[in-house]
Amino acid sequence: MTDENGDVQVLLVEDDPSIASSLGDSLRGAGYVVEHVATGQAAIDAELGDLVLLDLGLPDMDGYDVCRAIRSVSNVPIIVITARGEELDRVLGLELGADDYVVKPFGFRELVARIRAVTRRATAASAVHGQPADDADDIVTVGPLQIDRRTHRVTLDTAGVVAELALTPKEFELLSFLADDAGAVRTRTDIVEHVWDANWFGPTKTVDAHVAGIRRKLGDSRWIEAVRGVGFRLEVPSTEAD
Ligand code: CA
Repeated sequence: MTDENGDVQVLLVEDDPSIASSLGDSLRGAGYVVEHVATGQAAIDAELGDLVLLDLGLPDMDGYDVCRAIRSVSNVPIIVITARGEELDRVLGLELGADDYVVKPFGFRELVARIRAVTRRATAASAVHGQPADDADDIVTVGPLQIDRRTHRVTLDTAGVVAELALTPKEFELLSFLADDAGAVRTRTDIVEHVWDANWFGPTKTVDAHVAGIRRKLGDSRWIEAVRGVGFRLEVPSTEAD
């Protein structure tokens, strides 16, 4: 376990001293390098490391604002820690850019599984960045939408104006997975296995929250059609010439 986690630097943002202390100890025991801060401002000022564990209930700032502030300057994976399960749609669906979440109380093994999943994806993404360009394989085009897996960039051409979309790592993986077989329905099970993890037991609402986030960024909800009881399909929205 230590070898696997040893190079991962975790910024732990948690104001509760007892949680911070026990969680910090557990993470260090599992081989992570942990820096702890207790306020939102300290988190924004800190070295972000490889992963941010962000408690949403902080004394000086709204955790949402902290999340947004970090995301505005970095693609570092962010796992939100919340006691407020009912607000997960806000966490994942709005422009906060969190990659995953755990709800208090949570098990340490669950947390480590989440950490491994998000850091593995981040590592895979940066490894892809280092490879030489091979445009034919790396770029998927669906109508005006272009997804470049090498650079992890998504652009949308709207009437000749090309804009880059700021997707979170998970949103990127989800959109990329749908785009690989545009027009076909991807089942929720396939989506969870490919985008999250085969052994991910989170609520399927997470998929919906990410779909909502992508739709909003694409500016047209018709890009991703929900097929009731099955899953989701990516399609170019039809123009009004019906
Ligand atoms: Ca707190």
